[in-house]
Amino acid sequence: MPHPERVLKEVFGLPSFRGQQEEIIAHAVGGGDAVVLLPTGAGKSLCYQIPALCREGVAVVVSPLIALMRDQVEALRQSGVRAAALNSTLTPEEARGIRDALAAGELDLLYVTPERLAGDGFMSLLSRVPLALFAIDEAHCISQWGHDFRPEYLHLARLKERFPGVPRLALTATADPQTRDDLVHRLQLDEARIFTASFDRPNIRYTIVRKDNAKNQLRDFLRAHEGASGIVYCLSRKKVEETAEWLTAHGIPALPYHAGLDRNIRDRHQDLFLKDEGPVLVATIAFGMGIDKPDVRFVAHLDLPSSIEAYYQETGRAGRDGLPSDAWMAYGMSDVALRRRMIDEGGSPEGVKQVERAKLDALLHVCETVSCRRQALLAHFGEHHAGGCGNCDACLTPAEMWDGTEAARKALSAIYRTGQRFGAGHLIDILRGNKTEKVERCRHDDLPTFGVGKDIDQKGWQSVFRQLAARGIVSIDHTDYGALKLEESARPVLQGQQPVELRRDPSPGRRAQRAAAGAAAASASPEEEALFQDLRAERMRLAREQGVPPYVIFHDTSLREMARRRPASVSDMAGIPGVGSAKIARYGEAFLAVVAAAKAAT
Ligand code: ADP
Ligand code: ZN
Repeated sequence: MPHPERVLKEVFGLPSFRGQQEEIIAHAVGGGDAVVLLPTGAGKSLCYQIPALCREGVAVVVSPLIALMRDQVEALRQSGVRAAALNSTLTPEEARGIRDALAAGELDLLYVTPERLAGDGFMSLLSRVPLALFAIDEAHCISQWGHDFRPEYLHLARLKERFPGVPRLALTATADPQTRDDLVHRLQLDEARIFTASFDRPNIRYTIVRKDNAKNQLRDFLRAHEGASGIVYCLSRKKVEETAEWLTAHGIPALPYHAGLDRNIRDRHQDLFLKDEGPVLVATIAFGMGIDKPDVRFVAHLDLPSSIEAYYQETGRAGRDGLPSDAWMAYGMSDVALRRRMIDEGGSPEGVKQVERAKLDALLHVCETVSCRRQALLAHFGEHHAGGCGNCDACLTPAEMWDGTEAARKALSAIYRTGQRFGAGHLIDILRGNKTEKVERCRHDDLPTFGVGKDIDQKGWQSVFRQLAARGIVSIDHTDYGALKLEESARPVLQGQQPVELRRDPSPGRRAQRAAAGAAAASASPEEEALFQDLRAERMRLAREQGVPPYVIFHDTSLREMARRRPASVSDMAGIPGVGSAKIARYGEAFLAVVAAAKAAT
């Protein structure tokens, strides 16, 4: 039986285990069941791939997403591992070929979709071959509490009885405790060992800006990430289409990606995103995406997600490779209104709506916090962080607080005196003393509140109203053209019995520069950077030749290290993370030639 550490070095070209990998792998190799709850990018795949190679028989990996499966299999094959995937995209002959290989014991790892696995024929085929283990990836899909419930996963509950003695590993990056408990229970893993660690993603920089011409803000943000791989999330299909078009027209190639697109087009866009290092993918928030690209450098939200769980999962797609990455969101008053409306008008029963409202409020709290965002995010998952992470906008550009008690009273009074029938725009005109046509028509210039807020500018008032709405002091009535209404909690504020602290929104310009600085922080010397680009070009050439995504050949982290170390021989190459023996045999010469050419040129 090969030793895990040898497999790590020789097959995967990695010098050492990370975090709890060694322990998890030893436990699985020894035949134990495990539940692995680790954040995205922690390295969960190796936790079952190495035991698969150390144990007798084939490892069956259940995964819901076909594109993801394809990538994993391709990456394993590049490392010389005998891997295959069974899913609905295969022709009958291809599927038969894989089943034959399985029966003949010629596979180390077999990836299957849950519906394939559940098929009776397949289960009985499996019962005739030696099995190393079952790995259930994205295990949260079995839970109705999760954001990604897939009924096919319920069949996996049968594995325990059907294959007693075959170790089972359930893996997920889902952080919320309810989903975790549920999946342990449903998969009958009550006796499994549970491995978990902090869900912090220190390489992701969180930035949440106030919306103020969102498209331009997005464009400025994207300019700081030129040529990098990234995802932009929007709420609706229409907005996805519009945004992709607008970006492309403004010189930033972008492709739409949502459930309403023709399957072929969607697959093509996904493929281009995976294989090319160019286009930005613009996707709908709700759409589960089979994308595990390790070098996604940014995730941008043009609309507010529904909860912290969703936000964390979506932003979590950035920086799987551990390199510095940006999670950026623009949010404003209209997002609060829209989200509240979606809950009110959604089909959920009242009890569920209450949960949905609480989840939205928790996310709004993160948006409006003046202290460390990371601390607020992790607190939601029951994790204590001391704050001051130094890698979120609140830490990098601390927002000031100001005493908004008087301003809030004026704002609430304007709402009250106009009969709770108007939106923020008109109320601001009243407060600022603007004699607009509407103000005069309604005689609102006669109100005592007229012109009492001249000391605060238009944007300042928008910020006040947004914060009042985010805190639930006022609500936005979407059945009445966005009119603002007073909530119960407005009363003590209006009566001057409760002080209101507000945050001062920093100017957007400052924020954009900070975000750009984040991306550049990882940059190297000019020579190193030039060599890195040459190595990337070589990788692209090789990837195109084979029609595979570049990162299955080498990750950026490996190329960065190559650029730094400038290996002169195959043995120098062997020390570089991610460069295993199969890859040296296959690509060593090609990349050494690129390094040598760069050396000759300097
Ligand atoms: P997860 O499934 O937990 O999101 P992956 O298994 O996709 O994470 O791994 C994330 C990244 O970390 C990959 O680029 C992988 O090659 C890298 N990685 C995993 N384990 C190690 C390790 N021990 N040393 C260095 N890199 C690792
Ligand atoms: Zn912070």
